[in-house]
Amino acid sequence: MGKLQDKVAVVTGAAGGIGKEIAHAFFKEGAKVVIADLNGAQAAATAKEMDPSGKRAVGVAMDVGNEAAVDAGMGEVLKTLGRIDVLVSNAGIQHIAAIDELEFSAWKKLMAVHLDGAFLTTRAALKAMYKQGDGGSIIYMGSVHSKLASPLKGPYVTAKHGLLGLARVVAKEGAAHKVRANVICPGYVWTPLVEKQIPETAKARGITEEQVIKDVMLRDTVDGEFTTTADVAAAAVFFASFDSNALTGQSIIVSHGWAME
Ligand code: NAD
Repeated sequence: MGKLQDKVAVVTGAAGGIGKEIAHAFFKEGAKVVIADLNGAQAAATAKEMDPSGKRAVGVAMDVGNEAAVDAGMGEVLKTLGRIDVLVSNAGIQHIAAIDELEFSAWKKLMAVHLDGAFLTTRAALKAMYKQGDGGSIIYMGSVHSKLASPLKGPYVTAKHGLLGLARVVAKEGAAHKVRANVICPGYVWTPLVEKQIPETAKARGITEEQVIKDVMLRDTVDGEFTTTADVAAAAVFFASFDSNALTGQSIIVSHGWAME
């Protein structure tokens, strides 16, 4: 028996990066996983790669910032798999720019993916969990930037701080239904999201890409190492399988000691 045997887990942004690793870790623990992603073709391919039979891994195309798309996608999950026990709100994007030069459209796009996405998927998951009546786990993908700020990441830092507030409210409202809500706060993880921002940060700060990695991204870690997708997935399994209200409204930093509290 896996730690998540027969649980139904929806992971957003799971066609790649951290989300894909979480979906895979849940699958290995016996869960039925839904790979929900803006890139529907990649979501379907990821699900097929995980479970060629299509019984325990399914791909769903979903723009988490779009109300109709989220409601339709979550409806499809309920129709196919019958319930939702775990939601990992993980889909995210980054935008590097100083606040005085930031386009309003870029600000709004980032908020739509991180905060509208977290709200819309949470609302749909809570409706299902409350109806099922046997609890559930909601996990938000925060960041060390839920706790600290860095220059050039105004919307990201703002959104990631916002997720702590949302998780705490969901923890309070969900308690009577045994629904827990927690946040994982990773340090830098080598994924396409980070790869893209290395040259952007180098340009914006006028330093080399090597300096971005060594002096910006990993400078304050205890050992100069990147956090791995597997490290983050292990934390997600822990939160998803801890089934009492003793652990709710919390955040855990997985960052090689970059931030400590
Ligand atoms: P990634 O770019 O590798 O993957 C993100 C996934 O989200 C992609 O598959 C993409 O298609 C999907 N996505 C983007 N917009 C979407 C939308 N509107 N609707 C549905 N899916 C969408 O990124 P990652 O590094 O794996 O990041 C995943 C999460 O982890 C993000 O919330 C990110 O902020 C957070 N995070 C990442 C790091 C890091 O260093 N990589 C650190 C801390 C937190």
